[in-house]
Amino acid sequence: MSKNPIYLDCHATTPMDKRVLQEMLPYFTEHFGNPSSITHAYGWEAEAAVKTARNTIADAIHCNQSEIIFTSGATEANNLAIKGVAEAYFSKGQHIITVQTEHRAVLDPCKYLETLGFQVTFLPVQKDGLIDLAQLEKAIRPDTILVSVMAANNEIGVIQPLAAIGEICRQHKVLFHTDAAQAIGKIPLDVENMKIDLMSLTGHKVYGPKGIGALYLRRRNPRVQIAAQIVGGGQERGIRSGTLYTPQIVGFAKAVALGLAEMESETKRQLQLRELLWQNLNQLEGIHLNGHPKQRLPGNLNVSVEGVDGTALLLSLQQVCAISAGSACSSSSIAPSHVLTALGHGEKLAYASLRFGIGRFNTKAEIEQVSQEILTSIKSLRKFQA
Ligand SMILES: *Cc1c(COP(=O)(O)O)cnc(C)c1O
Repeated sequence: MSKNPIYLDCHATTPMDKRVLQEMLPYFTEHFGNPSSITHAYGWEAEAAVKTARNTIADAIHCNQSEIIFTSGATEANNLAIKGVAEAYFSKGQHIITVQTEHRAVLDPCKYLETLGFQVTFLPVQKDGLIDLAQLEKAIRPDTILVSVMAANNEIGVIQPLAAIGEICRQHKVLFHTDAAQAIGKIPLDVENMKIDLMSLTGHKVYGPKGIGALYLRRRNPRVQIAAQIVGGGQERGIRSGTLYTPQIVGFAKAVALGLAEMESETKRQLQLRELLWQNLNQLEGIHLNGHPKQRLPGNLNVSVEGVDGTALLLSLQQVCAISAGSACSSSSIAPSHVLTALGHGEKLAYASLRFGIGRFNTKAEIEQVSQEILTSIKSLRKFQA
């Protein structure tokens, strides 16, 4: 039996923290009640747990608990935010601004809205992956209803200047949505300081369970209108129907709380590991860092390697480590990643790109081992291909 490869794909998903699982377990069995059952103790117990979890998540992003709408994850939250705002503000305008490097869960709802007659501006990014604020401001029109810019990129880890974007949107009275799936529990998020009106969150990128997330929806200054996309029992103030998934909600909140409590020490630790990995790999000729060198998630490293076939490289590393080429969601396709393409890379460089997502459970020994194996692999592939 071969050993499991070292997991370095934390932008695709993270292992669940055992402390999160412990918190969730009683809500599958003993406390199984429906939080909407108001006539008995089973319901009250579940309702209380959901309330506590909602408060924890609200505190983490500095909003009121009534502004948190639980969803099945960030994909659903993005769909609810973008389609929900489009539908609610249809008579005000039909123009939306987003960015070429967004996750598919933002790009695809926008493209869907285009088929309904909405106009969408897909802003380019600069070479470092950051948007140009002047370009954003110039793109705002009288009929613009929404700007959607992600907090942290899932491929190159680049962190967009949220507070500056929020300021521009507020000045022009345009709603600001951010997909913070990669950011929650990793970098500080404050919807007041950053003037964010809608924010998508998910549990499974922050050592919590899959299948749970939330949309933050501002209720004052301004009060955001939204059209429900899933209707039924009227849960979550009618904005998102469906029986609340208590264990997942409890786990999501615990994961967010742990992320916050350990953010400072983890950031420092992951930065050290990331720098170590980059220093090791950078010994090679023809290796390039993708994305801004500093303004990025501490655990993210994304590199392009010249003179090797990306697929061959990943194949040769399969037993060693679990990493991905570009985005996991599209890694089965052979097209170069839309994010690296937006950075202005030619197809060749984009092909031989590696995305590392270092996480809470990775160690220095793992990083050293992976570095050496990658160096060996690249050198032998280059020799073979030359
Ligand atoms: C993972 C991810 C999503 C999708 O989140 P799910 O909870 O899996 O639906 C959306 N946006 C970004 C930036 C992500 O990294």
